[in-house]
Amino acid sequence: MAQENSTDGSMKPAIIVHGGSWSIPDSLRAGHLNGVTQAVKTGYQILQQGGSALEAVEKAVVCMEDDSIFDAGVGSFLNEQGYVELDALLMDGKTLNAGAIGAVLNCRNPISLARRLLEKPNSPMMLVGKGANIFAEKTGLACDPKELIIPREQERWEKGPLDIFTPNAKGTVGAVALDLDGNLASATSTGGAPYKMVGRLGDTSIIGSGGYASETAAASSTGHGESIMKINAAKLAVDLINQGYSPQSAAKEVINRMANIDGYGGIILVDKTGELGYFFNTSRMAYAFITKEGELFSGIDPK
Ligand code: ASP
Repeated sequence: MAQENSTDGSMKPAIIVHGGSWSIPDSLRAGHLNGVTQAVKTGYQILQQGGSALEAVEKAVVCMEDDSIFDAGVGSFLNEQGYVELDALLMDGKTLNAGAIGAVLNCRNPISLARRLLEKPNSPMMLVGKGANIFAEKTGLACDPKELIIPREQERWEKGPLDIFTPNAKGTVGAVALDLDGNLASATSTGGAPYKMVGRLGDTSIIGSGGYASETAAASSTGHGESIMKINAAKLAVDLINQGYSPQSAAKEVINRMANIDGYGGIILVDKTGELGYFFNTSRMAYAFITKEGELFSGIDPK
């Protein structure tokens, strides 16, 4: 039986999503805000209808993978050889089961592929490269890799390597939620860094870095993957909450620790009471959330 988290004695759901950090350009600002708002509404509706946190975060992330404005699914950055390689991680706080997909080439919705892996009996928790491509084919989630490339990203690639610190950069997507049964889940999906080396795995599919969920809290990260991995940002955030930090103070502490190693990024958090937190040290991070009181907020600029 779930604990109540509201004054009327019932359990209320809560959800927060991000649409990536970095210096999202003004031209993509409205699109990012619209994308994260649609995603959070999609996830919240599932939660309100009694759906699981796992289902809500998966579908919120699918929404953003399908929106080519983000660096996830269709429309992702191309790697140094001019094609898309996607990473995703889904984690269930109740069971600690995860589905992690790395460097998949042929899947529009790697977060759904991660869910298939998570729910497959006696399966590994992580599949990368060729194995992930084969799994996409076997589960009916495969597409032609060319479908993932859009003209905007083809043109960007043709101009040569992009410094992620330039105002052109956009980011990964993620969601964390609390459901009516008191369970938590985390989902994160990315095309990774622009012009990344073939086979480069960032933080996103790494359990404890790109995402983590337990019975007490759930986290999803975005930003400089190599820095996020150095401090296992998502697990660190959950551990801080277990030590008594609020989600907001834990988010700030994680990003401060990342700044101490010259890292840049953002993180979103929810705890088992439905308290939400987010923080970033990039110039922007698209986010939207619906509180346990049912209020919707979205934004992209620092507080
Ligand atoms: N963290 C992602 C990666 O390094 C990129 C991002 O969040 O923008 O692959």
